[in-house]
Amino acid sequence: MNYHYSDRVPESDEDPVGNILKVAGSDKIISFAGGLPAPELFPVDELKKVTDEVYDESGRAALQYSVANGLPELREQIVKRMVKSNIHTTADNIIITTGSQQSIDLTAKMFVNPGDTVIVEQPTYLCALDVFRTYGAHLVGVEMDDDGMKIDALEQAFVANPNTKFIYTIPSFQNPTGRTMPFDRRQKMIEIAKKYDVIILEDDPYGAIRYAGDDVAPIKSIDDDERVIYMSTFSKILAPGLRIGWIVAEKKLVKKFTLMKQSADVHSDNLTQHIIAKFMGEYNIDDHIAKIKAVYREREGVMMDAIETYFPKGVHYSHPEGGLFIWVEVPGDINTQDLFNTCIKNDVAFVPGEPFYADKVIPGTFRLNYSNMTDEKIVTGIQRLGKAIEQTIAS
Ligand code: PMP
Repeated sequence: MNYHYSDRVPESDEDPVGNILKVAGSDKIISFAGGLPAPELFPVDELKKVTDEVYDESGRAALQYSVANGLPELREQIVKRMVKSNIHTTADNIIITTGSQQSIDLTAKMFVNPGDTVIVEQPTYLCALDVFRTYGAHLVGVEMDDDGMKIDALEQAFVANPNTKFIYTIPSFQNPTGRTMPFDRRQKMIEIAKKYDVIILEDDPYGAIRYAGDDVAPIKSIDDDERVIYMSTFSKILAPGLRIGWIVAEKKLVKKFTLMKQSADVHSDNLTQHIIAKFMGEYNIDDHIAKIKAVYREREGVMMDAIETYFPKGVHYSHPEGGLFIWVEVPGDINTQDLFNTCIKNDVAFVPGEPFYADKVIPGTFRLNYSNMTDEKIVTGIQRLGKAIEQTIAS
């Protein structure tokens, strides 16, 4: 059979990142490649208890079809949670999604026609790039520094692309860099978005996982004309297998999102929504997040100390105060794939930087994850990685 795919389907079946994760998944390899939360922190007993209660108290309702915008009790819990991030909203401004990945997809579906420009951080979350490409977006990457997207470069991107549809940003503990945009830069980003009259898609899966430094309020908290579509998720603060996230946006937009959501998957898993709402009613999720932060703080500290000890001089790396990732930049014209191959021979892995770039790739960059690894393995793995970097520079 000769299948006649739509233009959205990639010609190649190549999955370079999948291949990297497969190679890195071997038992003998210490892998900093994935982005998995620490499973030992999942509140299994508590979730089991509230699941039983949901079945006992409202099993039939929880197993029935439900509304596309999400369970009202869960949306109310999220409204309360958002206040802590200085976002004052209502349940009618929220739609529950099947994780932030779906939030990104629905937003792209709603705004991107083939050829439309989407401005992104350079580098950025590679699965968001995949989504934007699926809808035919023209991607424009904006250079970053240690404080996130550079505002002068953002302005230049608008001058060159006046018909931009939206800016996609991960302002807190960005994936892949771990960088956080300070508050004054967030204000400047809003000003530019106003000047060029575009919306901002603020993706915030990691903001709650700050283990050092002071909180920086989301861009949505200073959004005075409803141009920010904010999205977050339970994936990193509870468990990613639950597949529940949310969008906060203007009511008019939520109505459109609801229509798009209905045709995508009718509604997100109703049982899971009941379970999370119950969990948030019975437990203080911030107590749970505090446990996550304590473990990640420790692991990031161990990785940072090991990097300082074992990486050759001149290698640049980010110093995250939260989230899951460290970004490494090896100077010179180093081939990251060669470095990756050397690492695999030395039983250690990372994700090479290339797939995180929308257009201009900076070689010698890669992402390290520290959330899903013991202290001992972090030290051994970074030692091996340091040696592999030295070997690759020398070759
Ligand atoms: N956005 C970013 C920046 C992410 O890192 C991730 C998960 N790795 C997602 C969205 C998707 O998260 P979810 O599990 O909620 O779909």
